[in-house]
Amino acid sequence: MKVSKRAQNVPASATIAVTSRAKQLKAQGVDVVGFGAGEPDFDTPDYIKQAAIEALKNGKTKYTPAAGIIELRTAIADKLKKENGLEYSPEQIIVNIGGKHSVYEAMQAVLDPGDEVILPAPYWVTYPETIKLAGATAKIIQTDRANSYKITPKQLREAITEKTAMLVINSPSNPGGFTYTPQELKDIAKVLEGTQVTVISDEIYEKLIYGETKFVSFASLSKDAYNRTLTLNGFSKAFSMTGWRLGYTAGPLDVIKAMGRLQSHMTSNAATFGQYAAIAALGKPAAEAIERMRAEFERRGKYMAERLNSIPGVECPEPTGAFYCFPDVSSHYGRNINGAEIKGSMDFAKALLEQANVAVVPGLPFGCDGNIRLSFACSLDDISKGLDRLQKWLSQ
Ligand code: PMP
Repeated sequence: MKVSKRAQNVPASATIAVTSRAKQLKAQGVDVVGFGAGEPDFDTPDYIKQAAIEALKNGKTKYTPAAGIIELRTAIADKLKKENGLEYSPEQIIVNIGGKHSVYEAMQAVLDPGDEVILPAPYWVTYPETIKLAGATAKIIQTDRANSYKITPKQLREAITEKTAMLVINSPSNPGGFTYTPQELKDIAKVLEGTQVTVISDEIYEKLIYGETKFVSFASLSKDAYNRTLTLNGFSKAFSMTGWRLGYTAGPLDVIKAMGRLQSHMTSNAATFGQYAAIAALGKPAAEAIERMRAEFERRGKYMAERLNSIPGVECPEPTGAFYCFPDVSSHYGRNINGAEIKGSMDFAKALLEQANVAVVPGLPFGCDGNIRLSFACSLDDISKGLDRLQKWLSQ
């Protein structure tokens, strides 16, 4: 059957491809250590599940307004005010079908063919594809390891043209857990003043920050930043609710309304009982539930980065957020390991999986071929076992 050019031009998600191959090997009985996962390994906290069960029992099984029930949008507005210092009315908030959908829909609502989007690399694999699907062009800016893979004000200033419609900021980031300091974000906001650039601030990892790291919402930096920013967030990472498909976008009324119109024809509302569970998620026990997971991720991230840095030819900045390490392994490129030519991150990840049964994600689809991504959303035992294998494999 005919497949559209649009669909042909979109590759499957590379993160999902590695996880599938690892699953396939596991099903064959191979003892694979998986560092591919992009989701917390904890279960959804019980108080949230209970709220969904209650909602189902109470008949919350019908359509809601496409943008979500007003009670949830009000609860999100309260959260953004209390935790992020952001004043949004419930009408300025739309509940989407996961954060991925928020990104897709926000770009559909803002971008036109011919527009350029400034995308600092490394970036989450979904951004370039959603930019393309909106008919726009990604202007990829390579960042430096020395600057913890963050775009500098100078790089940003030089990248802006009259075609620039958007800048994507993801802090803490996937794939590296890199987090902009409040001052770094202020400097970026300053560069944008007087321009036409809309900011997508993907804040899905806001709760997972470590050490002295401070999180600040881009829109809270100034009135100018507030007016040009779409704040994206969701329940997947902070509440371990990846399968529930709940994300949200807050921003200027005209764009949120446009997203609502699109959503009313694309998906309609997020699952109704899930919306009630989301209200509960944001309720009283939230802080405690989140802290338990955050503290465990912090322990694992520190350990993983230390172990990676102790391996010759592997350089890994300690993650300040999210649950990923993104080490530079490029000094091993050009080697031949057990008959496998390691020319780049794709060869590296493939050979590591096939020869040492460790699943990592190559950096290439994140726009950074020198690196690989390892998720620490797995047990300390698995991290230890997997890194023993990686170390041994590289020492051959
Ligand atoms: N943004 C970033 C940076 C992510 O890493 C992810 C998940 N991989 C998402 C958004 C979307 O998550 P979800 O669709 O599960 O809400």
